[in-house]
Amino acid sequence: MQRMLRERVLPHLITDAGEVPLSAMDDSGVIGDIVLTTDSHTVKPLFFPGGDIGSLSIAGTINDISVMGAEPVAMSFAVVAEEGFDADELERIAKSAGATAKKAGVPIITGDTKVVERGGVDGLILNTSAVGKRQPALDGNLTEVARHRPIASRWLEDRNVADGDAIIVSGTLGDHGVAILSARKGIDFESDVVSDVAPLNGMILKALKVGGIAAMKDPTRGGLANTLNEFSEKSGVGIQIDEEKVPIRPAVRSACGMLGIDPLEVGNEGKAVMAAVPKMADAVLEALRNTHEGRDAAIIGHATKAVRGVVMRTRVGGRRIVEAPIADPVPRIC
Ligand code: MG
Repeated sequence: MQRMLRERVLPHLITDAGEVPLSAMDDSGVIGDIVLTTDSHTVKPLFFPGGDIGSLSIAGTINDISVMGAEPVAMSFAVVAEEGFDADELERIAKSAGATAKKAGVPIITGDTKVVERGGVDGLILNTSAVGKRQPALDGNLTEVARHRPIASRWLEDRNVADGDAIIVSGTLGDHGVAILSARKGIDFESDVVSDVAPLNGMILKALKVGGIAAMKDPTRGGLANTLNEFSEKSGVGIQIDEEKVPIRPAVRSACGMLGIDPLEVGNEGKAVMAAVPKMADAVLEALRNTHEGRDAAIIGHATKAVRGVVMRTRVGGRRIVEAPIADPVPRIC
């Protein structure tokens, strides 16, 4: 799929248009002062512990806008439903989407509905898009970065990570993917893990007001492993993390162990990963920990020219290369 996209699709779509163009493959695109993102959601099952496809579709899109350093302004909501899809379920999903958008303070101002023949889609697909505008607090945040070292971009791009930056995660990893798996038919394990699905615009604003954050990304598909590799590759700097500092719930760790999957590769829907100048890292961490969504935030490592790619110091003192996942360990989680 990745190769097909790279070879057959993207060459026809990519132009240099925009300050953050499609070719940057970042969380959102930026043109003028408009930030735009879109996402289609095919999560299975549609309802899972801690959320459903409705809350997921809103939170995921708000987060892709917010991690650029932008403020989400308005959203679209589009439904592609299989003929005969249960009306009560659709209403539950719409209610959940509306409540999530309201909680985040982002209005849904346009939408679309299509019904396709049986078998045309597997139940329901949602597509959400959002526009955002420059978050006023982003300027002060970047000024703080520039007090410590040069930064070329006006947005929180993946390519902005520099040698010495602290790597911060806003909370525990793997909860979403494990919650989805626990709700799947045919998978025989019980777990009380709930999805972390949540809009993060409020938490991110509090962190930006502290200042010193250079890059930010939401570790959705491919999890932390994918996010750190994107940071490293696009920024041309290594990243070293400490296994014992990476926050993972014991229940998530044991579920991943049992299923033979790596919690670092499991997707999250209510987390942000940040690179911050070292002098500001503790203050950013404290601001995050003072929010509900960021209460388990941690500094897990730093960017360094001393390593290539992403390297993790393991609990037992070894070193493990953390590669970008080749395939989804858990398909259809978002
Ligand atoms: Mg993203």
